[in-house]
Amino acid sequence: MNPFQYTRSLAAAGAIQSVLKEPHAHFLAGGTNLIDLIKMGVVTPERLVDINPLPLKGIEKTATGLRLGALATNSEVADHPLVLQGYPLLSLAINAGASPQLRNMATVGGNMMQRTRCNYFFDTAMPCNKRSPGSGCGALEGINRMHAIFGASPACIAVNPSDMNVAMVALDAVVHVKGPKGERKIPFADFHRLPGDHPEKDNTLERGELIMAVDLPAPAFSQHVAYLKIRDRTSYAFALVSVAAALKMDGNMITDARLAMGGVAHKPWRLHAAETFLKGKTPGDDTFKQAAQIAMQGAKAYRYNQFKLTMAPNAILQALKTASA
Ligand code: SF4
Repeated sequence: MNPFQYTRSLAAAGAIQSVLKEPHAHFLAGGTNLIDLIKMGVVTPERLVDINPLPLKGIEKTATGLRLGALATNSEVADHPLVLQGYPLLSLAINAGASPQLRNMATVGGNMMQRTRCNYFFDTAMPCNKRSPGSGCGALEGINRMHAIFGASPACIAVNPSDMNVAMVALDAVVHVKGPKGERKIPFADFHRLPGDHPEKDNTLERGELIMAVDLPAPAFSQHVAYLKIRDRTSYAFALVSVAAALKMDGNMITDARLAMGGVAHKPWRLHAAETFLKGKTPGDDTFKQAAQIAMQGAKAYRYNQFKLTMAPNAILQALKTASA
């Protein structure tokens, strides 16, 4: 581990200024991912700016929905009565991730910022464009079982590992950030990015920008929801494929739908075309299979993750069946 400076900030503006002082400075929240990366030599910070004293832990009703402070822990969010009542999909997704101990430490903002779990990214002896731009992609011709089937590029085929992010994108969350140029809002769907030629950039944050909160719109999908996560070990593992499904029903008709997948792309993968198809339909295997087929358009697998081309539509079918039940 390299030596680094440690700063504890009491105000967001001070934390932002501290991070801007060094090119390799990082905000530190729960540390459940960052500290691992530092120990492995994947991240070599010059400075860590501890933001835990900032007043960003609140979970509050707003005029338009619910605000989750960036430092609210994953456990606090998943167990909060307003989340359980209005946004059960988010609660299900968070509780599908990590372990209770990790969820007690991990924060909303940290969860959004967690890095990929691609093995080549973690192994500093291997080429990885995300860790070391221009070095190549070890996974492209390597063991790519966990990797993307949507939106990948020749530079990187990694996936975003978060479960929380999948529900957030399905629920149309909005991210509030503060930076040296002021404050701005980013739709959750635009927060994470596809790898393109710059896989080292996981998201659209600018240098020095700090996540302050995430806003959820008024509850609209609180009845018919499901989060299905398929993984190697049920106890604790990242998703091979996950599906967040939420339906609005009027009698036996689907009036609105939200569908997103995890474990399949560099960002949480919203399935707009399948959502549109589901509107006005009667729930049932035929409808859901057609929606899954639409969702899979454009999927492309690599040598070791061909199974995802079968697993993903089956997971969509199952999640929709559970949500509609
Ligand atoms: Fe690195 Fe991305 Fe390739 Fe994995 S898939 S080795 S993270 S460039």
